[in-house]
Amino acid sequence: MLDEILNETEILKEYKQNHRIPEKIKITDIIYLLTKDYCLQNKERKEVYKLIMEDLKKTLGNKFIYTKWNKTVKGIVNRFYRDKSIYKFEVKMNDINEIRISQNELQTIRQLDNLVLEKIAFIMLVYAKISKMQMQRENNDYWVNKSCSVICREAKVGLRGDKQKRIMNELYKKEYITTSNINTKTNIKLNFGDKESVKREDDLIIIDFDGVVYQYLIYKGEKWKRCEGENCEKWIRIKNNKAKYCLSCAKKNKKEQTKNVARESMRRLRNERKNGVLRK
Ligand SMILES: [Zn+2]
Repeated sequence: MLDEILNETEILKEYKQNHRIPEKIKITDIIYLLTKDYCLQNKERKEVYKLIMEDLKKTLGNKFIYTKWNKTVKGIVNRFYRDKSIYKFEVKMNDINEIRISQNELQTIRQLDNLVLEKIAFIMLVYAKISKMQMQRENNDYWVNKSCSVICREAKVGLRGDKQKRIMNELYKKEYITTSNINTKTNIKLNFGDKESVKREDDLIIIDFDGVVYQYLIYKGEKWKRCEGENCEKWIRIKNNKAKYCLSCAKKNKKEQTKNVARESMRRLRNERKNGVLRK
């Protein structure tokens, strides 16, 4: 999912192997993960800062600018230790393997009876459940701390600028969300999450977090699957059972096929000529 790391242990391990930033991960996220990791190793705040600066030197090589990173790393490390002492949360790596959405929650989303609103509500609920697990919140409140643009992009609704805010306002009017200011990145409170989280057999279980919204569409009866093209995995809508590839993979395959056909006819031509020569 956009703007979210669900497998912190794995990401950190990957980074530590060669001090390279894993794909799709921001350097500031790595600094945050390193802070947590060193804190778990009972290092003092000052030492954590020094260790991370050493890590960054290895990552950035010649591009390491002391003044720039000094400020960024100090900012992240200090904020982390300050929050830790204020909120007294338990420091741990967050590894979220699954999110469960209950039938009750799905029904409530479906009642919106507007696909764009439904998709946005669904995505917000997934984000809220993730954040609940990350923050180890015990109460029944559901909060999302993502910008409208991140939510809309993840929901794949194709809205831009003011239209994003207007659609959020729709959800607000319908009392699905409560928020004081939707113009900036802010906390949005959801009013449609289950008060009690009980695992049920018919829950929608999300374990694949790349293209979460398609799982809502599948629940609604649409047919979607992953492209079978090499290294692709793009989600495609199945219109007939033969569909295997996304547009770009299909195009690539066709090109490949045309090439093969051409190669084959060349080979045949060459053979015929050779045989012709022999026959003379
Ligand atoms: Zn593909």
